[in-house]
Amino acid sequence: MSVYPSGVKVVEVGPRDGLQNEPVPIPTEVKIGFVRKLAAAGLREIEVTSFVRPDRVPQLADAEAVLAGLADLPGTRLSALVPNERGLARALRSGVRRIAVFTAASESFTERNIGMPVEASLESFRRVTQEAAAAGMSVRGYVSTAFYCPYEGPIPPAQVLRVAAALLQMGVDEVSLGDTLGVAVPTEVDRLLETLRGELPVERLALHFHDTSGTALANVLAGLQAGVTVFDSSAGGLGGCPFAPGAAGNLATEDLVYLMERMGIETGVSLEKLAEASLFIEDHLGHGLSGKLLQRLRASGWTPAPATEVAATNRTKPACADSSS
Ligand code: MG
Repeated sequence: MSVYPSGVKVVEVGPRDGLQNEPVPIPTEVKIGFVRKLAAAGLREIEVTSFVRPDRVPQLADAEAVLAGLADLPGTRLSALVPNERGLARALRSGVRRIAVFTAASESFTERNIGMPVEASLESFRRVTQEAAAAGMSVRGYVSTAFYCPYEGPIPPAQVLRVAAALLQMGVDEVSLGDTLGVAVPTEVDRLLETLRGELPVERLALHFHDTSGTALANVLAGLQAGVTVFDSSAGGLGGCPFAPGAAGNLATEDLVYLMERMGIETGVSLEKLAEASLFIEDHLGHGLSGKLLQRLRASGWTPAPATEVAATNRTKPACADSSS
């Protein structure tokens, strides 16, 4: 029997985690169009924006307007990042049904990124999660620096376990473990998941890899073999790496979906429509996206078929998405 699952869930984080690192302001209408295209590609879970302070992340200052523009979108669960109780109040007014909270496994990173110790961030999110649950929202949790911290170096798995367990205990339904620096390798994924699996339900764990060192897909494979079936990624690799300007950041959704598709693992995502969404947002960025499959498509001269030709039988297909493979 295969060690691999029959399907995985892809959590698309491009509109939030990707766009927040893009310097050129993207118009609200473009963000809404991007999310609609991602949903049309079959992505069933999309983190669309963030309720952080608008002066800290001006790119996502239009969170309310983006969500309002997507209120009629059926079949896709939209979520928004919430940093604190003030962010939650905005999220509640916006009508979003799912939020994400974030802390880190490293004390130094949490101090510098959130301005408080890990324990205090958990205490704050305990209140946020309770209030959100009381309002009928579901809550996802991120653990940054689950492998390496830019200030502390390697993070012991026991430290990740402590934070992930606290998040699940407060009512978070899925914990996404992030390789924030993009430097982890599969043996480290094995070691972390070995520690977590005995203590936490593996179906509640997600992995959030960055391709900064080219190891993201190898790490996904290690995660799959350890029983993880939820992976975060960003369309086209949108976002870059905040710690290494110019380097790749988030794993590209196309690269993840391609690997799954070729391995016979279902994602429900159409590579062709996904590439359309990525090329659409790329037009507004002022630079090319880093995703490898997207670059291969571009090099092959592939362009999305015009909408009027969608029903045509001889529609141009991307070389990689041939359904016969
Ligand atoms: Mg990321």
